Amino acid sequence: MYDLVFRKVRLSGAEAAVDVAVSGSDIAVIGSVPSGTGAQEVDGSGLLLLPPFVESHIHLDTVLTAGEPAWNESGTLFEGIRLWQARKQELTREDVLQRAEAVIRAQVAGGILHVRTQADISDPKLTALRALLELRELVRPFVQLQVIAFPQDGLIACPDNVQRLEEAIRLGADGIGAIPHCEPTREAGLTSLDICFTLAAKYNRFVHVFCDELDDGHSRFLEAVAELALRTGLRERVTASHVNATAYYSEAYFQKLLGLLVRSGIHIVSCPLINSAMQGRFDGYPKGRGIARIKELWQAGVNVSIAHDDIRTPFYPLGTGSMLQAAHMAVHLAHMTGREELEEALRMVTVRAADVLQLGDQYGLAPGKPASFILLPGRDASDLLAAQPACRYVVSQGRVVSVTVPARTVLMEQLLFECKASEAI
Ligand SMILES: [Zn+2]
Repeated sequence: MYDLVFRKVRLSGAEAAVDVAVSGSDIAVIGSVPSGTGAQEVDGSGLLLLPPFVESHIHLDTVLTAGEPAWNESGTLFEGIRLWQARKQELTREDVLQRAEAVIRAQVAGGILHVRTQADISDPKLTALRALLELRELVRPFVQLQVIAFPQDGLIACPDNVQRLEEAIRLGADGIGAIPHCEPTREAGLTSLDICFTLAAKYNRFVHVFCDELDDGHSRFLEAVAELALRTGLRERVTASHVNATAYYSEAYFQKLLGLLVRSGIHIVSCPLINSAMQGRFDGYPKGRGIARIKELWQAGVNVSIAHDDIRTPFYPLGTGSMLQAAHMAVHLAHMTGREELEEALRMVTVRAADVLQLGDQYGLAPGKPASFILLPGRDASDLLAAQPACRYVVSQGRVVSVTVPARTVLMEQLLFECKASEAI
């Protein structure tokens, strides 16, 4: 007897429907399950079974603060940083927890069960970091949260942040970061990376660098990140996010960089929603598209994931947290609308993002793995990216944690058609 059975669900790329049986918190069977063996049985006809979405880069400390204290009228990173500097003076534990919890709830409903959040440590009390570490434990029964200590104001530009990084590790941060392109000089940027990698190697933590988020082909910190990942041996525990400057690199330099990136084993996270809005602001026409070279990186063998990133912050005033919306934007900007490319975009918000978080055996669809999965209406990636449907069911560690009842639309002008409205829906 199984605790929960979903009947007649579809796996991506497969024609035949299968059943999924859950025992306790694990997947017991994916295949044919004898009738009447589930304590609870759900008809999954027409639903696609996927492992949960993974958000590989978001700032749960800044979410839902757009317009506070003012709107980012220029849309630039620099005005965003200025506004956030003012807003973060007001941070309290309750303020961070309240906003972050609201977003986690929306993420669960949206099928996201693994989240890597940044926590700005540029304040002496580490208010955001402490609150998000607290939240990590609170949500652990249904969402796995990784917290990265992020020195938004830099490590050289704000020397106090070096000691705060170490304090963050002591408090339990899963990883640490740097923001080399915002340091005062190239040399300072390289020094900041050295500091970050030295600490991460000493304490064996993840590295998640904000890297080359500039429309500037001279911003070349990605090569240093890859080289340090090799030299320290941290390799797959290292991620470079944004890397928008890759769009401006000469082909000769980019091809050389690709070889180093593949050898290093590091991950790339692209944030197409915020960067399509933020990048190119200083360009004349033709303006930059605000996307890293994710197609070329993926095709060369680099692990690339797509993240949603900001939700209604001083940096980006929009966003719902939807991973399908982020992937939808990515396939436009990166010219990835081929059939296999659409499937790849879906992998970039699921299995590839899981690799960024190094989830290993804790992720995926197979008997013996945690029963954490999602069911959405559709047959393949093109259906999901076109319609961006809500998750009908979200299951976390064997429990149904979210159900979305589909909205029902009735065409009132049914007399214009030779069919009943109910059949047209
Ligand atoms: Zn970000």
